[in-house]
Amino acid sequence: MTGPDEAHGTDVDVHGAVDLLNAARTVTVLCHVQPDADTLGSGLALALALERRGVSVQVAFAAPHDVPASMRTLPGIHLLTAPKDVRRDVDLLVAVDCGTAGRLGALRDRLDGAAHTLVVDHHRSNTRFGTHNLIDDAAEATAVVLVDVFDAWDVELDGDLAHCLFAGLVTDTGSFRWVRPGTHRLAARLLDTGIDGGAITRALLDTHPFGWLPMLSAVLGTATLVPDAAAGHGLVYALVRRDDSVGLGAEEIESVVDIVRTTAEAEVAAVFKEVGVGVWTVSLRSKRTVDVSRVATALGGGGHRFASGYTAHGDRDEIVAQLRAELG
Ligand code: MN
Repeated sequence: MTGPDEAHGTDVDVHGAVDLLNAARTVTVLCHVQPDADTLGSGLALALALERRGVSVQVAFAAPHDVPASMRTLPGIHLLTAPKDVRRDVDLLVAVDCGTAGRLGALRDRLDGAAHTLVVDHHRSNTRFGTHNLIDDAAEATAVVLVDVFDAWDVELDGDLAHCLFAGLVTDTGSFRWVRPGTHRLAARLLDTGIDGGAITRALLDTHPFGWLPMLSAVLGTATLVPDAAAGHGLVYALVRRDDSVGLGAEEIESVVDIVRTTAEAEVAAVFKEVGVGVWTVSLRSKRTVDVSRVATALGGGGHRFASGYTAHGDRDEIVAQLRAELG
């Protein structure tokens, strides 16, 4: 028997993806749980393009209930649909920025009712769970893969589409820190539509409620450096206990790793976030030498070479020991 996370689909190029999109009269676009600006921006951009072609389209993510505050001004938000209202039978379901079917959360069951499923993604660890899969693990963001689709599909990139796509590009590149030749050309193309890149970036990456500051104070107080971990390349980690993050959204907690990973003495950074009794979601980052996608996949998660995550079970000592063992 083939499990839903095992590869069984066909890899398609952008033209194959366009053929699927052109053939569909009803489409569901699904973003991953705990959406970031790449999954939501990509999902909304694709939905706007479909809506303009007269296609009946819904966009959804399974959890949490509300759109993160920083993303509420993204164009296309009117196409967002409550999970319970997402249709079961559609011509095409498109999953954006999801490395596994599990990232769809409770909406994973909608895969069954779709005549075709298209996975559009850039995660190195993608399991190719669609009937058709467009995966470019060299792309900086799923938004970048979508631009290739739009170009092949003759979609005009106007301000609304550019806003959504820029949101994914600026966040997944860490404000253009992790780039390749052509990244800035794409950014220039999007900015040429007249969007306010500074305002979009500030809303997504540089705006926090005041409560973020005392949370950081508590969490950074737990920071621990393990110089001999990762074969001597060094590990730095911090813990976000549940009491630290009361009243804060997931996106506020996600930002902690971006501070922890600046530690000069450590190649690998980890932030353990307590989500239940003895249950932690773990964010991993590396700089140059350690492939944290491999580490996270070995621990039941996934991600990219330099940014990944997984779920850990146990007390503080156990989860740290488990990570150290996997890092070597
Ligand atoms: Mn992404």
